[in-house]
Amino acid sequence: MMRQYELVERVKRYNPSADEALLNRAYVYAMMAHGNQKRASGDLFFGHPLEVAAILTDLKLDDATIAAAVLHDTVEDTQATLEEINKTFGTQIGALVDGLTKIKRLDLVSKQAAQGENFRKLLLAIADDVRVLLVKLADRLHNMRTLQFMPAEKRKRIAEETLEIYAPLAGRMGIQEMREELEDLAFQNLDPEAYGAISRHLAEVTVKAEKLVEEIERDLTTKLSAQGIGAQVTGRQKRPYSIWRKMERKSVSFEQLSDIFGFRVLVDTVDECYRALGVVHTTWPMVPGRYKDYISTPKQNDYRSIHTTVIGPGSQRVELQIRTKAMDEVAEYGIAAHALYKEGINDNSRLANESRAYQWLRRTIDLLAEGDNPEEFLEHTKLELFHDQVFCFTPKGRLIALPRGATPIDFAYAVHTDVGNTAVGCKINGRISPLLTELQNGDEVEIVRAEGQSPPAAWESLVVTGKARASIRRATRAAVRQQYTGLGRQILERAFERAGHPFSDEKLKGSLPRLARISIEDVLAAVGRGEMFSGDVVRAVYPDYKEERRGGTETRVVGQAIKGDGSAGKTPGDSARGIPIRGLNGDVLIRFAPEGGAVPGDRIVGILTPGEGVTIYPIQSSSLAAFDNEPDRWIDVRWDLEAGDTQRFPARIKLQSINEPGSLAQIAQVIADHDGNIDNVAMKRRTQDFTDVTIDLAVWDLKHLNAIIAELRAKRVVSRVDRVTG
Ligand code: MN
Repeated sequence: MMRQYELVERVKRYNPSADEALLNRAYVYAMMAHGNQKRASGDLFFGHPLEVAAILTDLKLDDATIAAAVLHDTVEDTQATLEEINKTFGTQIGALVDGLTKIKRLDLVSKQAAQGENFRKLLLAIADDVRVLLVKLADRLHNMRTLQFMPAEKRKRIAEETLEIYAPLAGRMGIQEMREELEDLAFQNLDPEAYGAISRHLAEVTVKAEKLVEEIERDLTTKLSAQGIGAQVTGRQKRPYSIWRKMERKSVSFEQLSDIFGFRVLVDTVDECYRALGVVHTTWPMVPGRYKDYISTPKQNDYRSIHTTVIGPGSQRVELQIRTKAMDEVAEYGIAAHALYKEGINDNSRLANESRAYQWLRRTIDLLAEGDNPEEFLEHTKLELFHDQVFCFTPKGRLIALPRGATPIDFAYAVHTDVGNTAVGCKINGRISPLLTELQNGDEVEIVRAEGQSPPAAWESLVVTGKARASIRRATRAAVRQQYTGLGRQILERAFERAGHPFSDEKLKGSLPRLARISIEDVLAAVGRGEMFSGDVVRAVYPDYKEERRGGTETRVVGQAIKGDGSAGKTPGDSARGIPIRGLNGDVLIRFAPEGGAVPGDRIVGILTPGEGVTIYPIQSSSLAAFDNEPDRWIDVRWDLEAGDTQRFPARIKLQSINEPGSLAQIAQVIADHDGNIDNVAMKRRTQDFTDVTIDLAVWDLKHLNAIIAELRAKRVVSRVDRVTG
């Protein structure tokens, strides 16, 4: 076990002005608190927090983080309290320990819903201070290193959690070394056979390739120094998990994997990186499609490096990473490499400015604050954790990083929510393109906007970023609510009128308590959604009101009113007071009866279905009988179409046709000649001579439909034609 002075020495090695007294106090406090507690391995528990602290000293973190690491299990596992920690070590360390205590209670691989919720809590716990995450990652790393002492079931759960949550988080924070070790340990526990096989292969290959690695290292160093570039070249074997993933992804066997070794070329300046690249590419042929420049466009976790693959000595494919020593430090330590904590400045501001990893964290937390349901949140976050990125630009040159598969819609929302909500088109690299194009690296995207737009709900399933999805959901929810509210108002106005009273917001306001609603808008939306009936609202405002249309014989009052006298002129029900029906465009709350539908010119009635809106039936539809006992669901509706409207409406006809070659073609010809659309045809042979044909049409209006029916009746091959209205 690490001694007290050893801990202090480790810290002092990189931070000579470390607060020795603080470290000593934390050491003694934790040692006393954990006392004789044992780990599953049988070792003293106190060894664990010390190892966690040691891992963090490798990342050269500040005193407070190291002290918090030593104390991290005291509140959860011993008699120690947060108050005591706050008093003894100050509130900053107290807050770190508190965050770690909260995380410890989370189970991140439970059922989907709980997992999402817990992941939110995890991110919230690390939101205030990213050092909580760094301690947690070190804690997890040490637990993974000592996992063999755990029972099998627990081992699997912890390994899964590590692979799903913590390893990607370490990667996101740019701490690659830790990410790789976490992945390998998890892989080893989850699939011991595959891990063993790959490790054995790797060991064999290493022995054989030792000479080759040395040769490449020497060759590269010599070639570079001949050009005046002092470079440090090291060959490195890839990790079992990354090899396994590559095998899975490319469906190749180990033998087919050519690039098991990666080489790192470290130089002093950015200029030298590109010069070194030039030397490499002129010495060996490069493998097309493998060159990536993360120096000019860094990864979102701040990683910067040039990647390329060449056919090196012995026709061996060689993967190269070329970067400066400073970049290498970031590649290894990630967020911890930012000088901040080493200089003892204890706030997040510099980190926030310098570290894109931290910015990612903040964005994720912002998203979480928008509060969609946890499952969705997890889905998005996982998506963003695992997906590669594409980098695109605004016309002004602002860089927008998006997950692979992102569309201009995602881009628009990444720029600003308002831009996304009002997007109607886009130009990619100056060319007008569909909003659903998959964006490519380097695309310049210009969003075409129209004010007063709201995004179509269908976008929600087409975008890939959480931000876009959350914003679209909110915008469409608002739009749908607005529609329900509008519908509710129309229904109420009509109901009050029938009761002989004018509708007014003020009167309704006084009755809100009786209706158990907070606002008028709530009432309107509830009526529109069919959760509250208009009659109940009228009675709440006018308690004396007796509804006249209760009871079987009068249930069709609304329908009757619409039926009117059947003449073309205005009838009471057909008056301007019904809810105007303008077809399906742009109005999600209106739909037509599934069988037969209604076309302009038909007398129509609406039936309100809770949560779905209004379904329009022609008044003669036999389906309406089903609603006879639910007068509250009947809604006055009227056609409200402008001349020259180009919408079509659904109608169904049923024909009896003579069985002879070409009869169906003749029927189709008649419909085509009349500019009718056939949506569907169903045929059923009735007898040897006759076939029943059911045709779903799309027509302009009743006149159009009747013209088609008349023409069909005139055909010799058609023995009868009827309209069907379900
Ligand atoms: Mn622990």
